[in-house]
Amino acid sequence: MKCPNCGSFKDRVLDTRQSKDGTVIRRRRECLECGFRFTTYERFQEEKVLVKKKKGDIEPFNKEKIERGIKLASKNRPVSEEQIKAIANFVEKYLLEEGKLLVESMEIGKLVQEKLKEIDKIAYIRFKSVCNDVSDIKEFENILNELKEN
Ligand SMILES: [Zn+2]
Repeated sequence: MKCPNCGSFKDRVLDTRQSKDGTVIRRRRECLECGFRFTTYERFQEEKVLVKKKKGDIEPFNKEKIERGIKLASKNRPVSEEQIKAIANFVEKYLLEEGKLLVESMEIGKLVQEKLKEIDKIAYIRFKSVCNDVSDIKEFENILNELKEN
């Protein structure tokens, strides 16, 4: 480990401690060149993508939650279980490939909308209106007009 004081790579470990739950190891180190003491932490790499919601709270990415959202928007529409799963898988794969650790919920919403739009327009409008918090008729008109233009 590089000494933050002099940049030397020669150090010795003075003390190693494990957190109570065993997920973090803390090492107290001393630089052999300049004697500077510093601490390093070792922990598991967090693999789960985090989602930042509109109100700012952060939660782990949840594929089932996306499936539930699509299912709700697709109620009584010709959108199959397989298609719903395929959209959720697409979103998951996209996030893994992008390698992002934090993604806005709006971005996920847009990915779902793109796919849903190709399958069923009504389900698309329902999903989009929930994502965008559409509450007045004017905004619905905007979505409809945008669909007509495409
Ligand atoms: Zn040093």
